[in-house]
Amino acid sequence: MKKFFTHEYIDTQIVFIEKCKELLKEKYKKIPKFYLHSYGCQGNVSEGEKIEGILNQIGFMKTENVESADIVILNTCAIREKAQEKVFSNIGNILNLKMKNKEKIIGICGCMVQQEHVKNRIETNFKEINLVFGPHVIHKLPEMLYNVLLKIKKQYIDINEKENIEENIPILRGSKIKALVPISYGCNNFCSYCIVPYVKGRERSRDFNVILDEVKNLVESGYKEIMLLGQNVNSYGIDLDLKDGFANLLYEINKIKGDFWVRFMTSHPKDFSKKLVDVISTCDKVCKHFHLPIQSGCDRILKEMNRKYDKKRYLEIIEYTKEKIKDATFTTDIIVGFPGETYEEFKETLDIVKRVEYISIFNFIFSKRVGTKAEKMQDLVPKEEKTRWINELIDMQNEISLKLNKKYVGKEEIVLFEGLKNTGEDFMVGRTDKNILVCCEKKEDRIGKFCRVKIKKANRTMLEGELVD
Ligand code: SF4
Repeated sequence: MKKFFTHEYIDTQIVFIEKCKELLKEKYKKIPKFYLHSYGCQGNVSEGEKIEGILNQIGFMKTENVESADIVILNTCAIREKAQEKVFSNIGNILNLKMKNKEKIIGICGCMVQQEHVKNRIETNFKEINLVFGPHVIHKLPEMLYNVLLKIKKQYIDINEKENIEENIPILRGSKIKALVPISYGCNNFCSYCIVPYVKGRERSRDFNVILDEVKNLVESGYKEIMLLGQNVNSYGIDLDLKDGFANLLYEINKIKGDFWVRFMTSHPKDFSKKLVDVISTCDKVCKHFHLPIQSGCDRILKEMNRKYDKKRYLEIIEYTKEKIKDATFTTDIIVGFPGETYEEFKETLDIVKRVEYISIFNFIFSKRVGTKAEKMQDLVPKEEKTRWINELIDMQNEISLKLNKKYVGKEEIVLFEGLKNTGEDFMVGRTDKNILVCCEKKEDRIGKFCRVKIKKANRTMLEGELVD
């Protein structure tokens, strides 16, 4: 059995934190501020919370104002080409700010910089960026920052891969209601279109009891929703020789005393087991929403994608889940226009969407990622054609979402309210355990609470309701 846990942060980085604190006192007249923006998935947001925790421990205060920040960090995502180019355009904007304030420290981190060609581009064209570091070395931020503050290195780059897990890194959580808890890092699956295994490394599971303790502490400090994170939560614990690791983890978390919900993201259909469904069906705190990325409904394309399941297996687990958990809801990810896909094959995906009836889907037009197997595949379908396909998919899904949401009208649902609606102050929004968005008239004291709501109206994205008590 492999053990991946270290305490390098505690052992070595604490020294650099103290050294940085001394330097901050000399350098800044008032409390220095940091600005951090995380792109991409919840896993990346969770890593951003660790970076914020470290900066906070060093003595920086968080600001939402990029101009006034003494240190600006962009925590990037490599999943899609478009997102990557957006980061480069934002780097340009931030470097303009640095022209006005030469002392501003700029850092770029996350999956994007873990790619050699991106690192080289930054090294060659963006010499004003002070810190460049990948997701494997977040815990070394105090040491890197110390070097930058002392101007020992003009540009500090560390994208070394470490196949271990650093525990005890401080976390500055972005919410007081919902907490992100990674249970594993990296991925072993090498889906042919995906860059994640190359930038995040092989799958490493966190220690079972360490996760349980973290969740216990979060619940005790008032968190109402725990989101367990992993590229493939269903294979949690395999590297630790745990049998049914994820099912057992959910079972134990469910036993923790308190009023809270548990969600998880993301599942892989090849590892999603009947045993897991059986366990979830008995766990009252585990939400009955399943995000099960299908990616394509065509067996030939699934094979080309290296997904290691076929349509039959996927539908079997959906059917089993629907049988065991009557009101379960499903969401999925779909890639449209994978290299070589024909319209007939795409129609098989439409067929799955119709059969499963997802409450919503995340759909993407295929985008080539440098270094993946799919990068070399011939892609003959024109962009306009793919756009036509994706619009067909969206239209179909919109009808399904509306149909499913309308079923809730007249019913009572438990909703965890998370905050106010973006567009105004008069409504608050939350989610049901089925992950359906609900809005209600604002009552500040209900935010962060589970409330009974009578559903009055539904559209395809949201339910509207009234508080029952
Ligand atoms: S399971 Fe596939 S799509 Fe998901 S992170 Fe791993 S390689 Fe990427």
